[in-house]
This record gives sequence, C-alpha cells and structure tokens, in this order.
Amino acid sequence: MTSLQNTECIIVINCGSSSLKFAVFSLEGETVLVKGLAERLGGPDAILKIERDGETTCVAIPEASHHDALQQVTARLTGLNPRGIGHRIVHGGEKFTGSVVINAAVMTAVESCGSLAPLHNPANLIGVRTAQELFPQLPQIAVFDTAFHQSLPPRAYLYAIPLSYYEEMKIRRYGFHGTSHHYILLETARLIGKKPEETSLITMHLGNGCSACAIQNGRSVDSTMGLTPSEGLVMGTRSGDVDPALHQFLQDKTGMRLSEITTMLNSQSGLLGLSGLSNDMRTLADAAANGHQRAQLAIEVFCYRLAKSVCGLIASLDILDALVFTGGIGENSADTRSRVAAHFKILGVRINETNNANHGRQSGRCISANDSRIPCLVVPTNEELMIARETRRLIS
Ligand code: AMP
Repeated sequence: MTSLQNTECIIVINCGSSSLKFAVFSLEGETVLVKGLAERLGGPDAILKIERDGETTCVAIPEASHHDALQQVTARLTGLNPRGIGHRIVHGGEKFTGSVVINAAVMTAVESCGSLAPLHNPANLIGVRTAQELFPQLPQIAVFDTAFHQSLPPRAYLYAIPLSYYEEMKIRRYGFHGTSHHYILLETARLIGKKPEETSLITMHLGNGCSACAIQNGRSVDSTMGLTPSEGLVMGTRSGDVDPALHQFLQDKTGMRLSEITTMLNSQSGLLGLSGLSNDMRTLADAAANGHQRAQLAIEVFCYRLAKSVCGLIASLDILDALVFTGGIGENSADTRSRVAAHFKILGVRINETNNANHGRQSGRCISANDSRIPCLVVPTNEELMIARETRRLIS
C-alpha cells in the first residue's frame, strides 16, 4: 500500500441501472490499481466486490444507492490521488464524434439522446451525477460507444425508410461498442506495424453483446449494430436482425404487446432462445460436445450469421489488412473462430489450428495460416483502458 501513496490515477465508471462497474488506472503506466463491481443496487441483496493489492473484498450493502456504492468505493481509494473520471456513455447520437469534458451543455445533450437509449443513457448519467457529487473538484469525461462510428457514410447509416424519419427524429444506424472497436484498431495496427490511419480491418466484438465493424484507413465505415444495440448479429439473449414484419405478425397471431415482443427479442432470444439452455457460450460449447442438439444449432446459427454479416461489411472496404476477433467469445473460443473462418473459404481465409488453439498467444496474436489471403488475429479488448486513455488525453 505504501507504494501507492499519493499515486495519481484515473477512475473509470460504467454505470448501469442497478450496477456500477469501476476501474482505477495509474495515470502513468496504465496499471489497474483497484477495480470492482457493485450489483443489485437499490435492492436488499446489493453487493460490492472490490479487488485491490491482489485481494478481493465482498461487502453486503443492502438497499445501497449508486451514491452509497461509490462512497464505499471512494473510502477504499486511500493513498490514491484521482485526477479525472471517465464515464462510459452508451449513446451520443449525432452530437458527439469523440470524447468530451462533461459540462452542463454536455449533460443536456446526453439527456436528449436518452430516448435513443432509454435503458442505458439515464443509468450512465446517474454515474456522472454521483461522481460529480463525490468528486466536485475533478474533471469528468464522457466516452461514447457511438462516437467511433460517427464516420459512417450516409449509405451505411441510413435506413431505407422515408427520409423524413431521419431528418426529424434522427432515426438512423449509429453502431455501438465503438470504444472496443477503436481500441482493437489501435492494438492491431501496432501488432501489424502499420499506422492506425492506414489500417483497414473487420473487427468482431463477440461478448454477451456482439457487433462487427468495418474500419477503412482508421475510420469506422460500417457496423452491424443500428439505431439500438439490438440490430445485427446473433447475441447472448438478443436476436439480432429479424424481418421487420415480425412484430406485426406476432401481434396478430398471439396478441402479444409490442413491449412483450421487444422483451422476447432482447432477453429471450439469441443463443439462449435457440438453445433453450443458456446465453453463455462456454455452457453451450460443453453441451454441444455432449450431443445437445439445440446447443449445436445455436452455435451454428451464431457463427453463420456472423460470417454472413462480415461478408456484407467487406463491401464497404477497398482493402482489408486483417479480420480480428475480440470479446469474451472472440478471445476465448477457438471453436467459434474456426467455424466462422470456415465460412470464408471463398475469400481464401485459412486458419492455423495450432495457433488458433492457443488464441494466437505464441504467434503475435495471428491465428491464420501463412498462405491465408487475409490474416486473422485474436486481440483482447480493454474498453476501460481506452476510457482511461481518453480521460488522460482530455485532462492533460
Ligand atoms: P463478455 O461479454 O465479453 O464478457 O463475453 C461473455 C461471453 O464470452 C459469454 O458468452 C462467455 O461464455 C464467453 N466466454 C468466455 N470465456 C469463454 C471460453 N473460454 N470459451 C467460450 N466462450 C467463452
């Protein structure tokens, strides 16, 4: 602990409606000093888990609010000298093309994007307000999931519906996971020895939420996610793309309300809905290996739909330096990567299964064979570090 005495640091906060995830990075060196998660806030079984100095502490904080939880965290930051706080904000609409220092105008603008992300932005703002109360002297930085995708051209971001919906209500494709895709761009460029602004990639963020992004010369030019994070790939519990007539059809057939159909598509679909077993790829992989047919089917649909979307994204690129896998599934499931790559035979993609099996750890993150026409890499993402870097950049 003495080594941390007065260590300058940056706090990163990712606030959900009943959770608060945080990480504290040293200002220099980018080391994680403290990290943790408060969950089930507002309820009787609210809990705070903190890791510091290699020790994990769990504290019951019944009925604790976000404010209470952050206060508890603050009490455990002894010896640290926070210099700024970075917040993950999901939706920045068309207003934010990069990270910004939060002021009253930014708060109002983020609030006005709330209707585009009703589940996320109001919760993210709770985190900002709480941090402002507890650390009034510190600069607060907003880092948006959508900002990296603000470079999408109109042909990629417009839906083919009457243009007035875009003009009057800003209904368009925004794309999400931008902080992760941006981080992967920077890391991959470093690994392949190119400048980020000269690097063109397809990045696949495969976690509980999944999205793929086409990056041309360092700029996002298309994303599988759209107006909301529901569009695109098959995810843990989200369906991804469905026929736009599905809502009407289901309502007519079953009498389900729109909100019920939306809940089904967001929370009961994807890997969970197809398998009837779990949204967790590890569970499905084990079950599939033991002959569970619906788990096998869910994995097949997941991989095929991803490969199909990637082929669509390739249309937006003039050149492709690499296909990059990231996120919990992308980083850890050699089987998923292998299955996805098998759909790219026509593109001349070939995997080196030995390197794939060890997640590219012994091969500079590369998992493709030497004669693969497109290199394939596994690059671990680090959204918190990206937010810390953005915060450091803006406060300095
Ligand atoms: P994330 O949201 O990035 O934490 O990713 C969560 C997803 O990654 C879940 O579906 C996990 O099952 C999956 N995952 C994590 N580790 C593994 C693993 N070793 N093999 C397969 N999937 C994994």
